[in-house]
This record gives sequence, C-alpha cells and structure tokens, in this order.
Amino acid sequence: MPELPEVETTVRAINKFEKNVLKEIIVNNKNLRWKVEEKVEEFVKNKFIQNITRRAKYILIFFEDQCLMIHLGMSGKLRIQKIKDNYFKKHDHVELIFENEKIVFNDPRRFGSIHLTRNPHEHRLIKNLGIEPLSKSFNKDYLATLCKSSNLNIKKLIMDQRKIVGVGNIYASESLFLAKIKPDRPSKNVSMTECKNLVTSIRKILKYAIKKGGTTLKDFYSADGSEGYFNLELNVYGKEDKGCKICHQKIIRTVIAKRATYSCNNCQI
Ligand SMILES: [Zn+2]
Repeated sequence: MPELPEVETTVRAINKFEKNVLKEIIVNNKNLRWKVEEKVEEFVKNKFIQNITRRAKYILIFFEDQCLMIHLGMSGKLRIQKIKDNYFKKHDHVELIFENEKIVFNDPRRFGSIHLTRNPHEHRLIKNLGIEPLSKSFNKDYLATLCKSSNLNIKKLIMDQRKIVGVGNIYASESLFLAKIKPDRPSKNVSMTECKNLVTSIRKILKYAIKKGGTTLKDFYSADGSEGYFNLELNVYGKEDKGCKICHQKIIRTVIAKRATYSCNNCQI
C-alpha cells in the first residue's frame, strides 16, 4: 500500500505541473472506491493549476476555486507519460491531460479515489485526520499530551490516523525500535524523554523513506512505475529471528491490532 513517503514522492514528481493548464480529465472507469462524479470531467477543462501538495495520503491539486483530491488506495499509482507515446495499460482509470504529457492514474484494485471539492480541509475524508508528522506542530509536547490521555499501547497510538497521519505499520515498528520503546507499552507510561526520542525517530524514518523515494523519481516515466514500499534498509520489520543490529539478540514478531509487529526485547523497554 502506498504510504506517506510514497505519496510525498508522487507529489514531488508531479509538482512540475504547477502553474500549468490542465486541459482535461478523462475518466475511463469511474468505479473506484467511490464513483468518480461527472462534475470532475465537466469542471476540469483548461483549468490553471495553482499548486500541488499533500495532506496525509491525499494528493491535492488546487485550481482557483476547486481542488482535486486523489487517494492512491491500496494499489494505485500515478505515472507521467508523454502524449505522443500512445500506449494504454490495463487499469489506467483516469488521465489528466496536459499540453505534452499526461498523468495517468492506474489502480488494479480500485481502492483509490478522486474527488473535486472547494475546500479539501473541510472534506469528510480529511477534516478528522490528525497532525502531519513532518510538521513543526508534531513535537514532544504534543505526543506527551496524547500519551497521557490515551488507553492505547504506544504502537496503536502512533498509528491512529485521527491523532497522527502517515505512520504506517512498517514505520511504527522501525521508529519504536530507534526510540527503544516496546510496541506494547501503555502510552501512559511513556516518558517525556521517550516522547522526544520517538518524535525524532518517526521523522527520521519518514525522511529516510522520502529520500529513498527521491531516487526512484525516474520511475514515474516508466510504464512499470515504482511499487509498494521503497527498498528501505530496515532494522526490525520482517526480521523475525534475525539478530538485532545493536545487541544481536533475536528480533521477535508479535501481533498488535492484527498487524505484524517487530521488536527487540533487549533494546526496547
Ligand atoms: Zn537489541
């Protein structure tokens, strides 16, 4: 599933279309997670793009008075294709047509979505989302306040999209390892110093993934695109029974909220 770093990388890849005119949107298959409304095609005719940004895992393309919200769902991705390279792939559901190039939304499982809205921040899919982990507002005080008032364990808390967006399952295990905190620790018992370390770790792992993603930007031009998680060097995720990089004890796998969780019982307390 595309996670926050993949979405951020996608936004960076299509950023060059800012200040360009989007000539039209062609919807080949409107049956995505939610039906693509007809107003999308009707509205988007020769519209000037003011900017392209991201909120959580939503790609936001702003026009003067409307905004196109794209979510990649489970298997969606965008690729950039030259108009003259006249080919079509299975599952190319939506095409954003520019002068010489187009952005193609390909999504085999069709859990992605496209909406047109005046104010995305008030949209039902976005308005209740939590804080951006790479923003300044995400700091030790914010996390400590969350921890104090939560009955969840720390892994569940940092993955709660209503509190913090974009900390996916892999990033949760990895950041807790870096911060030396056991995933099943009650959030209430996480100290201020640990909150500080955890904020630093979450930012570090997300930035690392985005940096890795940056090196795959060229893939946006290839028909294959880039798939799933970037090729990250991970410390614990998927490393059951392998030696911890720090203490060489075996990494253990547990299940928290039905999600595989990896940690080192020796390094993490
Ligand atoms: Zn260890």
